[in-house]
Amino acid sequence: MVYWVHIAHSIDRATLHRERCAEVPSNITRTDFWEGGWFDYPDKDRALTAMEQSGATDQKTCPLCKP
Ligand SMILES: [Zn+2]
Repeated sequence: MVYWVHIAHSIDRATLHRERCAEVPSNITRTDFWEGGWFDYPDKDRALTAMEQSGATDQKTCPLCKP
């Protein structure tokens, strides 16, 4: 299971998604972690750590895929 973290610094939010969530774009462009974007992690612990490291005030899990 791969977990995706969407980091949006412009709205100060980091969201956790499961693999294959409808909200995960099919074409991910590699972006810089500190600039934001979509990032994949091999397990939930690492994804949660990445959300913490992003520094986003609003850290939530996706209401659609409920990771
Ligand atoms: Zn989702």
